[in-house]
Amino acid sequence: GTSVTLESVSRSYGSTKALDDVSLHFEAGTAAALMGHSGAGKSTVLHLIGGMDLPDSGHISVDEQPLPRRLDAHRRRVGFVFQRFHLLPALSVLDNVLAPVLPYQVDFDRKARARELLEAVGLAIRERALPSELSGGQQQRVAIARALIGRPPLLLADEPTGNLDSATGQEIVELLLGLRERYGMTMLIATHNPELAATCDRLIKLADGKIVRDIPVTPSADML
Ligand code: ADP
Ligand code: ADP
Repeated sequence: GTSVTLESVSRSYGSTKALDDVSLHFEAGTAAALMGHSGAGKSTVLHLIGGMDLPDSGHISVDEQPLPRRLDAHRRRVGFVFQRFHLLPALSVLDNVLAPVLPYQVDFDRKARARELLEAVGLAIRERALPSELSGGQQQRVAIARALIGRPPLLLADEPTGNLDSATGQEIVELLLGLRERYGMTMLIATHNPELAATCDRLIKLADGKIVRDIPVTPSADML
């Protein structure tokens, strides 16, 4: 995993202060849940760290290096999982997982890696299916495999269980936990899901673009 640091980061959209002077440090390998009501600034934190948006002021660094000017190089080190999956509907499951690495020269066997990840998310036998033939939970599994194809040291997930029923959401929570143990990436997850937050090491609550709570998560008795 990588460490991530935000120093006095602010981002406004018009007159809305999405983030207001936020400073945060995430240790390498940590899993942190970002919580707070809709509009609190959770997605903005993830977009800025992922290099999909730029702060108006403040600094963001990954492994103690400021985000590079060439953000595309940075984005390749980051896996992103969305609430609404965003799979490409005309591509098979296997091709969706391969899509992020197709434009690049890579030093690994793309198809072998994609199949390993489909195995890890429990969908190896559906590699030829189209997204529309899968359930929501299965589509999210494909999206998670796609996010991990470049072995990113940092996984950002924006409400990954927000579009799933609670039993399916719980399966995704367990999957993410297992993948983190297996691949050891830093995970930052925006979520309203208390079960998902409870699997993290740290819980950060945002309100109106500011951090209002930042506490370690202690495993509850029923998890031990
Ligand atoms: P959350 O993820 O906690 O729901 P967001 O980070 O998406 O919050 O949004 C924070 C605030 O910034 C909200 O008021 C939202 O409407 C606003 N916002 C986010 N992205 C944009 C955008 N691209 N254009 C305008 N306003 C935006
Ligand atoms: P998803 O479920 O795919 O994550 P969201 O509904 O959370 O989608 O947000 C979709 C996009 O719209 C995000 O990139 C977010 O930054 C942007 N967004 C959020 N609030 C606003 C807003 N008030 N105006 C414009 N864009 C916004």
